[in-house]
Amino acid sequence: MELYKPSEILIERGEEDAPVVQRTLARLPEVPVRIVDKGWERGGTESNGTDSFAAGKRRLLFTRQHSTFLEHCPAGTPGLVCCNYLVVSLISNCPMDCSYCFLQEYLANNPTLKVFTNVADLLHEVAAVVDRQPWRQFRIGTGELSDSLALDALLGFSADLVPFFAERKNALLELKTKSDCVAGLLTLDPKDRVVVSWSLTPPEIVEREEHGTAAFCARLEAARRVQMAGYKLGFHFDPLIEYPGWEEGYRDTVARVFSTIDPRRVAWVSLGSLRLTPALRVTMRRRFPQTRLLSGEQVPCADGKWRTFQALRVKMYRALAGWLREAAPQVPLYMCMETAPVWEKVFGRAPTCDKEVARALVAPNLANHEKSGSPSTDSA
Ligand code: SF4
Repeated sequence: MELYKPSEILIERGEEDAPVVQRTLARLPEVPVRIVDKGWERGGTESNGTDSFAAGKRRLLFTRQHSTFLEHCPAGTPGLVCCNYLVVSLISNCPMDCSYCFLQEYLANNPTLKVFTNVADLLHEVAAVVDRQPWRQFRIGTGELSDSLALDALLGFSADLVPFFAERKNALLELKTKSDCVAGLLTLDPKDRVVVSWSLTPPEIVEREEHGTAAFCARLEAARRVQMAGYKLGFHFDPLIEYPGWEEGYRDTVARVFSTIDPRRVAWVSLGSLRLTPALRVTMRRRFPQTRLLSGEQVPCADGKWRTFQALRVKMYRALAGWLREAAPQVPLYMCMETAPVWEKVFGRAPTCDKEVARALVAPNLANHEKSGSPSTDSA
C-alpha cells in the first residue's frame, strides 16, 4: 500500500511538540501545516462540494483526547451474544474507504482524520485497569474507529503499544487491519501478547468494495511475515458478503489462508454478517452507486440493522465454519453480533454467558506463558 498522504496537516495549538506530531512532520515535509485552536472543527470547513466525508479523510488533525480511551466494544448490544471486548482509539477515521464502512454514518459530519497525541495517557489508563486486577484477563483492540495499522508507517503507534502489552501478564492486544503495513512490527518482540488480525473477504470483493485497502495476497503475505516475527494471528470473515459464487470464493479464501500461515499460531477467527443501518444504506447509495451490497437478500433485524436473511446467513456461517474446522481444527471460532438462536443453529449451542466467549478466546492465548489457576475474563 502507498503511504497515506494528507492534503493538509492540522495541529491543535499546544500539541506541536508531541512525539507523534514530530514523527509525522519529519515523514511528510511537503504537506502544508496549519496550527488550529481547540474546537476548530466546530466552525465548519469548506467542502469540495461532492464528497465531504472523503475530503475529511485527507485532512489530518492532531489533537488531545480529553475523555477516557478505554471503552466497551459497542457491538455488545442487548439480545446479541457478546465477547466482552474492550477498545481503545488513538485514531478516529480511516484512510481507506470500504463501501460498507460504518464510519460513513458514525463520523458523517467529521471533517478530519483525527489522531490523538496523548498516547502516554492511554497507556496509564490501561495499566490502571489491567495491572490493578491481575486475576482478570483482558482482550483489548485498537481497530474500532480506524484501521489499527494503515497509518503505522507514519504515526508509529505500534512502537508504543506492542512493548507495553508485551510486559502485561493478563492482557492481549489485538491490532486489526485491512492493510499490509507491518514493517513497524517486525523488529518488536510481542512476547505472545499481541494478535495481529486481518479482515478478509474474497479477492473479487476486496477489489470491488474495499477501496484503498491492501490486495488480498498482500494481506496474506503480511500475515505470514508477522507470524514469522513471533506474533499470533487472527482472522475476521466479517462482513461475510453474499454474492454469486460466494461458496467457491470463500472456500478458496480459507484454503489460501491456511496454506500460507501456520494454524497453530492463530489466536481466533470470527464470522459476522454484513449489517447496515438504514442511514448507512442511504449513504452507501450516494457515495458508492456501483456497490452491489444493497441488492442482496437483506432484511431489517431487531436491532434496526439490515442483515442477510437468517436462513442464508446460517447457511453461510455453517459453510465457513466447516471449511475452517477442516483447515484449523483447534482454532477458537466465534460470531460477532449474532443472536443465541443463530449460535445454536451454527455451533449446536449458544454461550451461557458473555464471559464464556471471552474466556475461550483469551485464556488459551495467555496460557502459553502463564499457567496460573483459572482467571476471570470480566470486563473493566
Ligand atoms: S478498513 Fe475498516 S475502518 Fe477503514 S474504511 Fe474499511 S471498514 Fe472502514
